[in-house]
Amino acid sequence: MDDVSPAGRGRRTGAWCAAAVTALSCTVAAGAGTAAAGTAAAGTAITAAHRPPTWCKASGALRARAMPQKVRLSDCDLRGRVVRGENGLAATVPSDGTSVAAHSLRTDGASELRVEVDEAKGEITLTATGTRVPQGRPRAFRAPMDACKDGAYQQEPSKWPKGATIEWHYYPGTAGLPMSGVSTGITDMFDAKTDCTPSHAFAPLPDVSQKYAGQTATAPNVTADATCGEHDGTNVSGWQAMPGAEPDVLAATCTWFRGPTTIESDTALQTQGKKWWPGPQDGSSCPAGSYDVAAVTTHETGHMLGLGHVEGSQHSELTMAPTVAACDDDPATLGKGDYDGLIALYGARSSA
Ligand SMILES: [Zn+2]
Repeated sequence: MDDVSPAGRGRRTGAWCAAAVTALSCTVAAGAGTAAAGTAAAGTAITAAHRPPTWCKASGALRARAMPQKVRLSDCDLRGRVVRGENGLAATVPSDGTSVAAHSLRTDGASELRVEVDEAKGEITLTATGTRVPQGRPRAFRAPMDACKDGAYQQEPSKWPKGATIEWHYYPGTAGLPMSGVSTGITDMFDAKTDCTPSHAFAPLPDVSQKYAGQTATAPNVTADATCGEHDGTNVSGWQAMPGAEPDVLAATCTWFRGPTTIESDTALQTQGKKWWPGPQDGSSCPAGSYDVAAVTTHETGHMLGLGHVEGSQHSELTMAPTVAACDDDPATLGKGDYDGLIALYGARSSA
């Protein structure tokens, strides 16, 4: 089954349109009993005060849209529960006090779900956004800037320590797809590959490195329905069948962090119902409706390093724009904003 949407076809110039953005910012009042809790003098009153709010169902996934943006653990202990954001994107709230950011890249846009856990405050902050590419040219369309001049970037709430070497493993899955585009995409982001300079790389490089640590039989911690699962301390990128994911999902990246520091990131590329092109190195050209592995992986690696999406059609030439078209290999090379974002996060590596 091929679920490539018409909006996702063709080169970037024609197919990358302005994106409609919806952001969740709920201000639902906390459970009615909460205010009473502070004044409850007797232990007997606590039971009534801690009756969970109606959205805090005892089982199954909880919908971020139905929940307040800040959830007190005393009202609803989300740890270990699955929270569902926009466009079907979901994450398991870590049970060990870490936070998680989930990103999905779709043929028709992208989604992000952030679950920031602050155990000291006893509070979880939820942020869910979804971007869909409208059919045709939207009214707010602005011509894309030249990627070599467009300095726009967004930062996620966490990053790796400056100077870190991030070891990652490759998960081949069972679809028989090659590793080459995955490793190319990862190195393209770390090595700031670009078409903007004669040397085909920005300089100086950001002060963060990657090291391939071998193949693994353990899949990325992304479930069959593209939900971020529990993290296991190993960074894994690779091919995964996600039969329960929404049909437009191409890839999912889950990043776990403690305070402002990233501790793990996994990327799963969807093998079910999606066609992939490993790249031009074998002399082939991209079959219609296929997705460039290196381009998608470069974008996902940006999330791994702490870059968020740059919204708006004027930024559509950047790697961190929230859409990718079939056979589009442009995201495999960084624009100015993608590079500036890496430098803002990590500073410049000294050339010594
Ligand atoms: Zn993305």
